[in-house]
Amino acid sequence: MTSYVEQAVQARIAAAKAKTQQQEQVRGELAGRRKAGLMARHRAKAKRRGIRLGFCGTCARPLMRGTYLLCSKGCGAKLCRGGDRCTQQHNTQCPNRPTAYTDSPGEAS
Ligand SMILES: [Zn+2]
Ligand SMILES: [Zn+2]
Repeated sequence: MTSYVEQAVQARIAAAKAKTQQQEQVRGELAGRRKAGLMARHRAKAKRRGIRLGFCGTCARPLMRGTYLLCSKGCGAKLCRGGDRCTQQHNTQCPNRPTAYTDSPGEAS
């Protein structure tokens, strides 16, 4: 047999427990949202700083988005875009270079 006081205490404990659970849920949601925000900020930062996508086929400099060109001969090599230096140097080494060039006795090394 439970007294009125005991019932009241039980009710209060149950209420407190429910409240704690609710708070934990809210806290978990907040933590999740904060984490998502951090990740989004991290992504934006990485984007601003530039994501390294590979290395120049001629000078091996790290390349970011929008700083390189693909080989015009279609070998798939990425080449620095700054000036024509790297693209032109690559053209003489490219596996897809015109064979007429390398077959000439003067150019063969
Ligand atoms: Zn280069
Ligand atoms: Zn090439």
